[in-house]
Amino acid sequence: MLSDIENLLKLQEADKEIRRLQEEIAELPKRVAAIEQKLAGTKAQLEKAQAAIKADEAARKKHDATITDLRGKISKYRDQSLDVKTNEQYKALLHEIQFAEKEISEIEDKILEIMVNADARSAEVKAAQAELKEETAEIEREKEQARQRTAEDEKLLAEWRGKRDQLRGGIDEDLLRHYERVSKFRGTGIAEVREQKCMGCQVMLRPQTYNDVRSGEKMVYCDSCQRVLYLSPAEEKIEEKPTVHRPRRHHPKIDAPQAWYYRPEFDAAGEVYLCFTNSGGRASRRVYEIHTGRLIGDILIREGDFRHAFPEDITGSIRLNGDWDEEELDAWGTEAPMVVLDALWADLELARHEMSARPASKPEAQAVVPGQAAS
Ligand SMILES: [Zn+2]
Repeated sequence: MLSDIENLLKLQEADKEIRRLQEEIAELPKRVAAIEQKLAGTKAQLEKAQAAIKADEAARKKHDATITDLRGKISKYRDQSLDVKTNEQYKALLHEIQFAEKEISEIEDKILEIMVNADARSAEVKAAQAELKEETAEIEREKEQARQRTAEDEKLLAEWRGKRDQLRGGIDEDLLRHYERVSKFRGTGIAEVREQKCMGCQVMLRPQTYNDVRSGEKMVYCDSCQRVLYLSPAEEKIEEKPTVHRPRRHHPKIDAPQAWYYRPEFDAAGEVYLCFTNSGGRASRRVYEIHTGRLIGDILIREGDFRHAFPEDITGSIRLNGDWDEEELDAWGTEAPMVVLDALWADLELARHEMSARPASKPEAQAVVPGQAAS
């Protein structure tokens, strides 16, 4: 049963690792594709710049041809002007010549514009070429890294798959089927139980289910999420060391009118509880045998408060929590009731535990008696 849990946990680890590797392998080509897309963008930019240069060159040629054409026309008009008969004819030719010259001037402006733009265009092409070169180198590097990483991942994946198959072989068939079905829908098929809760779905277990998990005698599934349950190792430790769960002890007040003490040795009576009560400027002392609650001897009354009246009883005793009316104490008669004994005993246990946790501290009784000579 425990080995099944161990195998399932190992299987879960293998499944998780296989999933991670598969995702990583699938992710690598995506990264390469993203860089390739960027590369295509730079390529398009370069082509556009190159096409613009070509278009400029063609325009330039066309302009040059037009200018040559216009110059030819001007020369022809000049020749004709030598043979004109009327002033009107001469004026018309002169107008033609002026018009052609104006056209040439406009085209020359356009050519100048193309020449100025040419510098910017060639800078654009150079920049795009440099970028393309850099990106091409980068993509080669990335591709190489992706190739290496994929090869490593594939190798690890094969190893993990081998481990998984081996683990599957060692697990009970029904349990394995259950685990894999839950795993498929929920991502994990086994969950830890902590503080009576399934850590897979965070739902509290029914007491019976929780006990079944703790006993470890059979496979237990979470009622809510169906995951295979196992007890958290931290929880198992708590089971081994119940002292960790001791409640915090309430500390008795120093100036309380009533005080209880435990004394390991009292005359011939052995272990006793001492009860001191201050009342009307006087202090009383009652002594009870700790197991039977039997009142030992008479109630002793002295002048002053009990700390000064019974210092010899307090020194070396352990102060306990306890507060009952004097009327109630009288009503007990010669025997303290069982509930009182139980309460005192429980508090004594806590006090002892507290003292053992702080070995350097002195018993409380010694620490709180003012002006008490060490005896
Ligand atoms: Zn659950």
